[in-house]
Formats: sequence, C-alpha cells, structure tokens
Amino acid sequence: MITKSFERKLEKLGAFEISFDMLKLSEKNEKHLKFLNAGRGNPNWINTLGRLAFARLMEFGVSECKRTLDKGDLAGYVDSNGIEERYNAFLNRDDEVDVFLKKIVEYSVDHLDLDKKSLILELTNGIIGNNYPVPSRCLENTEHIINAFLQSILYGKANLRKNTKVFPVEGGTAAIVYIFDSLKHNGLLNDGDRIAINTPVFTPYIQIPRLSNFDLAEVYLQAREENQWHIPDSEFEKLLDPSVKAFFLVNPSNPGSRSLTDETLEQLRKVVVKRPDLIIITDDVYGTFVNGFRTVYSVCPRNTILVYSYSKLYGVTGWRLGVIAINEDNVFDELIKKLPEKKKKELESDYSIVTFNPSEMGFVERICADSRSIGLYHTSGLSTPQQIMMVLFSMTHLVLENEKDQYIEACKEITAIRYHNLMSTLGLPEDNSDSNAKYYTLIDIYQLAETNYDKNFATWLRNEFEEIDFLLHLAKEDGVVLMEGVGFGATPGTVRISEANLEDNDYKEIANRIISLLKEYYEKYTKEKKKL
Ligand SMILES: *Cc1c(COP(=O)(O)O)cnc(C)c1O
Repeated sequence: MITKSFERKLEKLGAFEISFDMLKLSEKNEKHLKFLNAGRGNPNWINTLGRLAFARLMEFGVSECKRTLDKGDLAGYVDSNGIEERYNAFLNRDDEVDVFLKKIVEYSVDHLDLDKKSLILELTNGIIGNNYPVPSRCLENTEHIINAFLQSILYGKANLRKNTKVFPVEGGTAAIVYIFDSLKHNGLLNDGDRIAINTPVFTPYIQIPRLSNFDLAEVYLQAREENQWHIPDSEFEKLLDPSVKAFFLVNPSNPGSRSLTDETLEQLRKVVVKRPDLIIITDDVYGTFVNGFRTVYSVCPRNTILVYSYSKLYGVTGWRLGVIAINEDNVFDELIKKLPEKKKKELESDYSIVTFNPSEMGFVERICADSRSIGLYHTSGLSTPQQIMMVLFSMTHLVLENEKDQYIEACKEITAIRYHNLMSTLGLPEDNSDSNAKYYTLIDIYQLAETNYDKNFATWLRNEFEEIDFLLHLAKEDGVVLMEGVGFGATPGTVRISEANLEDNDYKEIANRIISLLKEYYEKYTKEKKKL
C-alpha cells in the first residue's frame, strides 16, 4: 500500500534513491506491463570505433613487449628503437580500424605538430600501462589531443587549445570532487561562502556535503519552464553580489537539458567584467548534444574551470573518463597569490613536500596533487590506458577534420527522435531550438492535468496528494520509472524523463501510460466531486 506517511518519508531521500525504491515497485507492476525505466541518464548506445582501436592498439603493444622478452605469458617492455616502422607495418591498409590508427598519427603530425615517434611510444606504453603516469597530471601528447578535441566540440570560435591545461580524471563527478576539495584547501572557497548554482540541477551536486558547507543553497539561478528552462537575465544580477564567491553550472543543464544562449553568455561575460574575482565551474558533459555549442569557458577563460566527461557521448560511464581544463592565465593562481600571508605560508608548507617552489605551483597542479592528498602526488594522475582511451575517442572526432561527425550527429538524432515520440504523444509543444539537448525532458504533471482537463482538477491533484504520489502509482501500476524533479530543485509536480536509456518507441508508451494514469486520477476526482 502506498500511504501518505510512506510518501513523506520517501520525499526526504535524494532523487536517485527514490528512483531505486520505485524500480522495485515497477518491476512487479500490477498491470504486468513492460517495465520501463526512464529515470537514469546512462546512455544505451556506445561508440565502437574507439573501443576497437583500443583493442587493436593493445595487440600492437603486446607484440612490442614480446620483442624484448617472451616467455609464455610473460613479456618485456616497449622498445622505442624503430617503433614507427613497426607500427606502420603492423597495421593493415584494408582494415577500417587499422586505417583509423594510422590516421590518428598522420593527423597529429600534420595538424597538431606532434612528433610521430613520441606519440606512437606514448600510445603504446600508455595502453600497456606498465609505468606510473608521467607527467602525473597528463601525458604530453595526450594533453595536446584532448585540448584539440575540447577546442573542436566546446570552445566555438575562441582559440584556447594552446593555452589550456588539462587534467584527465575518473569521470566528471571525480572532477567536481577534486575541484571543490582544492578550492577549499587553497582558501579560494571557505566555509560559509556563498555559491550560486543554476537550478534545476543534477541532484548529486546539490547533495555534495562539501558544497553544503559552503552555504550553497542561498543563490539559485532559477531556470523555469515558462522560460523554456533558460536562465532569465535578471537572475545574473545575483552574481554581482561580492559575497557570492563562485558560480557552479551544468551547461547544457541537467535536468533542464538547455544550453546557455549567446545572449546569456554575453550577459555572463559582462558580469565577470564587474566581478573579476568570480570563480566559475562549468560542467559541459552534454555540450555535444546541442548544435553550435559554446562553453562558458570560451567566454570567460580566466575565471572558468571546465569539466568535461566522455561518459554520455561515447557510452563510457563504466570507463570513468573525464577532464578538468583550466587556462594558463587564470584568476585562481592570482587569488592564491593574494591570500593572507598566514594562509600562504601554510600552503607553501603543504606543497613543499612535492615541489621546490611551492608558491609558484599553479592551481591545476595543486588539484592534481590534492587528488592524492599531496603526499602521493608522485603516483597521482589517471591510469594511462584510460588516458589513451580518451585519445582514441577524441580522435574519432578529430580525424574527420571539417567533415560532419556522423557519430555525434547520430547521437543527437537518437535523443531527438525519442523526445519527439514523447512530446507528440503527450500532445505537448516541442522545443526544437538549437539549445535543447533533448537528453532529458521535464514534464510538469500539474500543468499537464490543467491542459488535458482543467484548472480545478490540477488544483485538486496538487492539494490532495503528495508530490511523489503520481510517480509512485506510475511505477507500481504502470511499470514506468521517472525521476521526480523537486530533488533537482525544480518546481513541485515536475518529473524528469531521460531520453538516453530506452528504445525509441518506448517513449510513446511512456507518454500513453502517463496519460492513462492521469485519466484514472481524473475519474477519481469526478467521483469525489459528485459526492459533494
Ligand atoms: C552524467 C553526468 C556526468 C557524468 O559524470 P561521470 O562521472 O563522468 O560519469 C557529469 N555531470 C552531469 C551533470 C551528468 O548528468
């Protein structure tokens, strides 16, 4: 039985935990319908070329190691002498994956000015993974390639790849944890400082206890449905308040799934002119799902820490592939230099165990050192095979040069079809503007009740039931799991549907089950009205 007290208890949990409870109800749904979980953002597609190239490169690496020592399953190490010739000889001219592996070297030499031998060695040693990552923050050629990739997919026309430092990490979520830890450790954010956040936002971000210490809740830059989930310009005025030390945003947003428009970016640029010390952290994991994306980093490069993750685009949530990118010329280094003497001395002492010149250690290096509690800096850095995997995915895009990336286009097409199936079946207007990533859709159930029936019914629904009631019944009776929006900071009655993880036609089915459940509520409503 779904009781009000159970519902109230559930509403105290995070959206992901609520979703977990609903999964159980939904799998054994009363109508024995096909179980449809549209709660999670994990994509149900993968990139094949990057993975096949990884496997092939591993074969090459092992053949190289066998050259120096070969005893059963035991082999030696990669010998650099003549490796370029052997790389070319190993790869077949008529195999698609091999041709790709040849192309990535040609592209890197011709367009990124990388040294052929150094690159092949880095790829081969990296994939074998028999040495600690050196340099710890990022392998050298890898950094150039990741930068070229970020330039192409996120920076728009701003040319930043040569002035950006990259730190590959275990996914976007690790990036966020490392960044906030280091901002805190370096005194750039302190307990009680205010942080602005664009809401609705990815719940786990609201729940990071480290962020709660920062008094996070105070400044939400609200995006609302009537604004198509864009942040109104007036909200940006909140950033002019000097007590707001940082602005943390997900762009395109989750769950709103909208990217900042050119006008909004311009608004933000102006804010930063007035607030040159503002710290901006932008999570751009969904950037490639909108057309012509431009990151906040391209507009405010000195003030912005960029987070990107390969998780969604390439279907690699299990691989844990993300990056932190920071400009060489940045406000963080400057702010560290301006810290009170006492704090500076303390930090110099902290970092002096890993560098002779701690006062000159840049913020991005500090994040890397802090990620292993400084003391273990020498074994910090992301595993080298993971770094090479990022290189290979980046290259699937880069080698196309100015051609359209059919893989990225296909990903956008998938979410667009599912979005269309959902919205057209619900009878709701579609937002086909470029800034809609269509990775998630927020639906306001009360609004839908009003549109499909009338305002009184919507009010009754709002007043008589807990917010979670509709979702629980949808799970228990109809076998559909969605995520509730309140945990994301959305308005009550809003639910999030992920377009990432079900078959295209399932989205019509979800819409039909929502409509039919709403009808059941309406029948209940008319019965009660008759009694009165
Ligand atoms: C899915 C998602 C990520 C990806 O995180 P990983 O740790 O890279 O898997 C990052 N940020 C947001 C907002 C997301 O929704």
